[in-house]
Amino acid sequence: MNVYWALAAIALIGQAFCALIGLKPEPYRAISEQAGYLLILCNLLIFLSVILAEIWLRSDLGFQKQMVIGCGFLISCLLYFVSLPYVDGAQMALMMPAMTALIYFDRRMLYIFGLLSLFDYAGIYFLLERGLLSKPLTEFLMMECIFIVFVILAHGVIVRAHETNEYLEQLTQSEQGLLVERAIADKLLKIDALTGLYNHKTFHEYLDSLLEQCETNGLRLQLALFDIDNFKQVNDTYGHWIGDIVLKEVAGKIGRMIGPNDFAARYGGEEFAIIFTDKDPDEAYALVEDLRSDIAGLEHPYAGGRPITVSIGLCRYRAGDGKELLFRRTDESLYLAKHSGKNRVVTSGENEPVPV
Ligand code: GH3
Ligand code: MG
Ligand code: MG
Repeated sequence: MNVYWALAAIALIGQAFCALIGLKPEPYRAISEQAGYLLILCNLLIFLSVILAEIWLRSDLGFQKQMVIGCGFLISCLLYFVSLPYVDGAQMALMMPAMTALIYFDRRMLYIFGLLSLFDYAGIYFLLERGLLSKPLTEFLMMECIFIVFVILAHGVIVRAHETNEYLEQLTQSEQGLLVERAIADKLLKIDALTGLYNHKTFHEYLDSLLEQCETNGLRLQLALFDIDNFKQVNDTYGHWIGDIVLKEVAGKIGRMIGPNDFAARYGGEEFAIIFTDKDPDEAYALVEDLRSDIAGLEHPYAGGRPITVSIGLCRYRAGDGKELLFRRTDESLYLAKHSGKNRVVTSGENEPVPV
């Protein structure tokens, strides 16, 4: 629309300039003595068309593209009439709607307005130019050929644009597919397939980076190791498949009960680990104790209805201890929990000698 406004203004300024230097719209005198009024009417119609199209577009009445191209068609005819008396090649203005269709990459509009322009110019030539301006037929034919060649070239451009667009769409789709696949593969690499908790490898990677934070930024950290009690018996009595269901349920309970800053993983076969990062020892103990009693309270009708319990070792990380000592202390606590009756939590006593 801005181009239309600019063209309307340029045409008006051009005519004003011609009037100033004394150029008169001579060819029109043959049709009417009042040729000047005819031109004023054409200019008014140009501005009226642009204003109406602008109102249409701003009112959001739909068919925006058709409106812009249709308005272009009207303006191109009027522009042709106002520039014809002054310049050669005014017919080029008639190509404007086809050019606009090219901007929209719309093949249908290109054919429709290309044809319209062809017929339009044929009418203009035989009714106006031939008689009034004595333009030769060859000029008419040349102009029509230029229109046709332009439409063919524009058709080629639109086809190319559609092909490129399709190619880009395919590329985007396959890129999205790749991203999803990578996200799934990433998840599979980090998550234990049976329980949905993080796997052993990810647990160690995460713990390593957290321990670094403990040393450099004084981050609080505690480690809890869980081991299901007498799990072999469950497998032996009810089968491995039931054992798997029990594992999933215990893991589910752990996953649901930990906080957003805690990190739970399946450490080994029937062993789980939790890293607490923003809890003091009492809070971590309370949560682990809740977990223990909640797990013991889970019902397992398929496993004879008897409770499944866990023993837990809990240890607070002390700056400078290192990963190995942290594990030794936690393991020792778990060992004590197992050997003092199972189904209990044992916290690593900080003043006790470190077991070797
Ligand atoms: P404790 O109370 O001393 O821990 O005794 P336990 O029977 O739990 O310990 P043990 O180490 O003797 O047995 C662990 C069992 O866990 C043996 C193994 O078959 C089972 N197990 C390990 N991984 C899986 C698994 O993915 N699925 C199932 N169903 N069982 C598993
Ligand atoms: Mg075990
Ligand atoms: Mg066990």
